[in-house]
Amino acid sequence: MWDRVDRATFQSAVRAAALVFVAAWLFSDDVRAWVPVWAPILVLLAAEVEFVVRGRREEQRPPGARVPPGPEDADLGFGELVEDEEGIHFLPPPPRPERSRRRLGWLVGGLVAAVVVALAVRSDRAATWSALPADARGRAEARFAAEASRIAGVPVRVRCDEGYAFTGAGSDTLGVAFPASGLTYLDPSVCRALHDLAFGGDRRAREHTTDAIIVLAHEAVHLGGERREGVTECLALQEAGPLAVRLGLDEGKARKALWSAFERRLAERTVIRASYALPASCRDGGALDRRPADPRFPF
Ligand SMILES: [Zn+2]
Repeated sequence: MWDRVDRATFQSAVRAAALVFVAAWLFSDDVRAWVPVWAPILVLLAAEVEFVVRGRREEQRPPGARVPPGPEDADLGFGELVEDEEGIHFLPPPPRPERSRRRLGWLVGGLVAAVVVALAVRSDRAATWSALPADARGRAEARFAAEASRIAGVPVRVRCDEGYAFTGAGSDTLGVAFPASGLTYLDPSVCRALHDLAFGGDRRAREHTTDAIIVLAHEAVHLGGERREGVTECLALQEAGPLAVRLGLDEGKARKALWSAFERRLAERTVIRASYALPASCRDGGALDRRPADPRFPF
């Protein structure tokens, strides 16, 4: 039966299907949640292996079928005709640099493949909040809620927004707060970073960990009743230090990380939405300094 299927068509169909699948995998959290990263790669690999194996088994084309360009092709640009005392001669074209084009193709293909794998690994890491067992997620949410309540000054709930129903356009992007109901939804990547710090023993002060801590503090400040974004972010930067230490980050690392987060936000002041920019009073000794006696700011 397989012999009757046009192999090229079959191969193209498999490749196209695999590409569609990889694209769906990259851009849909639902697909990612159900299909592991190596599945599309295996499908593509199987298709390529089949292609090579069948090609090897095929009979070789009889040699000598190709005729190199001769004198009659000179007017087409293949070589040229030159005349000297002995008559007219055909000068064949210089040999083409062999295979360089094919090598370039491999190089470009390899590069594209590397980029796709890097993207896949990155988005896999971001999506793995849903990969945690349910009880681990529940325990983590309870811990985040306790921390947020402490910052807000009132009991609040924290939910990790697995379906991206609330985070996204129109909110703070990585979190959204509903002060009236004492509830905040956080982006799953934020929850995962916080979980890894508090429960997973990942104590590196990486930028996305620091940002996740600031997001939790930011939404907690909103739940405490502050609505102005710039003020909220300034207070969050100051709350984030002690919060980071409570979640397990080394104090020295937390101070460094928050200082650079503060610097980043000051540098971004002109490019971010005006309402999100830190107010001028967000500085050591300024009106928003919650620890005026402490010369270290924000933590
Ligand atoms: Zn906000």
